[in-house]
Amino acid sequence: MRATVMHGAGDVRIENVADARPIEPTDALVVVSRGCICGSDLWPYRTLEHSENGRRMGHEAIGHVEAVGADVRSLEVGELVVIPFAYSDGTCAFCQEGLHTSCIRGGFLGAGDADGAQAEAVRVPQADGTLVALPAGEDDALTASLLTLSDVMGTGHHAAVAAKVGPGKSVAVVGDGAVGLCGVLAAKRLGAEQIILLGRHPDRIALSREFGATDVVSERGDEAVERVHKLTDGFGVHSALECVGLEQSMVTAVSITRPGGAVGRVGVPQDETMPASQPAFYNNVTINGGPAPVRAYIEELLPDVLEGRIEPGRVFDRVIGLDEVPDGYRAMNEREAIKVMVKP
Ligand SMILES: [Zn+2]
Repeated sequence: MRATVMHGAGDVRIENVADARPIEPTDALVVVSRGCICGSDLWPYRTLEHSENGRRMGHEAIGHVEAVGADVRSLEVGELVVIPFAYSDGTCAFCQEGLHTSCIRGGFLGAGDADGAQAEAVRVPQADGTLVALPAGEDDALTASLLTLSDVMGTGHHAAVAAKVGPGKSVAVVGDGAVGLCGVLAAKRLGAEQIILLGRHPDRIALSREFGATDVVSERGDEAVERVHKLTDGFGVHSALECVGLEQSMVTAVSITRPGGAVGRVGVPQDETMPASQPAFYNNVTINGGPAPVRAYIEELLPDVLEGRIEPGRVFDRVIGLDEVPDGYRAMNEREAIKVMVKP
């Protein structure tokens, strides 16, 4: 079968690899009907050291169950399923607490021994705990939004939950990538009254307004902080969603949060240390967040997608085949596309 292999920064190839198949009795084989490229895939795209074997890429997909291991109980061959980016058993102490990304038998697709999902098919470990059957056919109108439940929509929602978004609250979203845009949608869905997007790209700003953003701040650094304070009676926001992962975005997120507020961070941090420790301390700002346990959120978000109350799939602005994946990385890296869907 064909799969995406990254051999180093800027070096993405589509290669023939061994066919995916169930190995453990708890595995399922899923034929990918839609995958995508994640903003977090762009970090290795910029920095990965060259290697001959390379790294299998991709961790977001929906597809059909093609085969299951002997111990898989809850899935039928042929079912359409969503694959959360982290696999999990659904039964351990952390899964029971809704923190599936810390599952003691879990892991991440496209990392360690787990194959990537930018491929024709993928082996999914812990299939019973991980996969969620979708009560929908392959209706193209819903497909894009269902695909976002594997990562971006669940991650935007996690940022909002971590930042304690609730009815009547003021919210700022730092970052106008697909996760930031889903964060806007999640904040609106959770009842936020004011939603300020910090972003600079006209197409993304336009979509954020449709998703519920009430204000847009396109300045950066101190000027952005000043503008957010002006928009919030000088106090700052109750909740800041950090959807980038860089030092400056984290400093901005903390600096625009009012005393007693919370920052929900889902941007993969590129620094070892936590920026803005002192202002966070003196303002009693809660710093929260991490890899989103998207599996925990699917039951809550799925009805809103199926019934059309939210359309997170609108973050996809390009659809490509597997052979075009290298160019998809380039397009996202150059901000030519917000998020690229892959139709193997
Ligand atoms: Zn678990």
